[in-house]
Amino acid sequence: MESSRGLLMLGLFAMICSITFASEPSPLQDFCVADSNGPGTGLHIAGNTSNAVGSRVTAVNVAEIPGLNTLGISLARVDYAPWGINPPHTHPRATEILTVLEGTLEVGFVTSNPENRLIKKVVYKGDVFVFPIGLVHFQRNIGYGNAAAIAALSSQNPGVITVANAVFGSNPDISPNILAKAFQVDKNAVLNLQSKF
Ligand code: MN
Repeated sequence: MESSRGLLMLGLFAMICSITFASEPSPLQDFCVADSNGPGTGLHIAGNTSNAVGSRVTAVNVAEIPGLNTLGISLARVDYAPWGINPPHTHPRATEILTVLEGTLEVGFVTSNPENRLIKKVVYKGDVFVFPIGLVHFQRNIGYGNAAAIAALSSQNPGVITVANAVFGSNPDISPNILAKAFQVDKNAVLNLQSKF
């Protein structure tokens, strides 16, 4: 009985630790503003979506608001042209909660190996959707007008890894032979993709 309670306590402790260690460290002071002359957010301005993917992310992290330093939170505005996408990407240091300001979005993320399960949903103005830390996720504007959303992220500096850019647009290139084998396509298909990023 005692030993099973001990195991339970150990399990609880491990669970609490895993939660604690997964977040940013607690700040040691109320705030820590390194530079009080930040460049401002520009959040009131719709981002220019005239690009290959038809979307624009306007990040508002510690680089734009120095007052976020040590506080473990930031924002981004995402604008989408009709049928524009925010391509598959991941934030290595933050969970994201997305609120739709305008339009209709198809949103989704993929769970880790071995399931790689796609969890997706159509969200409307005022809806929210959560992308868990580290998981690959995306959005697509499935309406006929522009769409906009605000993403809140659980880090002052969430980081972004865009899958296509990281894999096919690294500097220098990952060897096409490696990518051909990884993606099970011939080398020309890889070279074609690498030429786009
Ligand atoms: Mn994101």
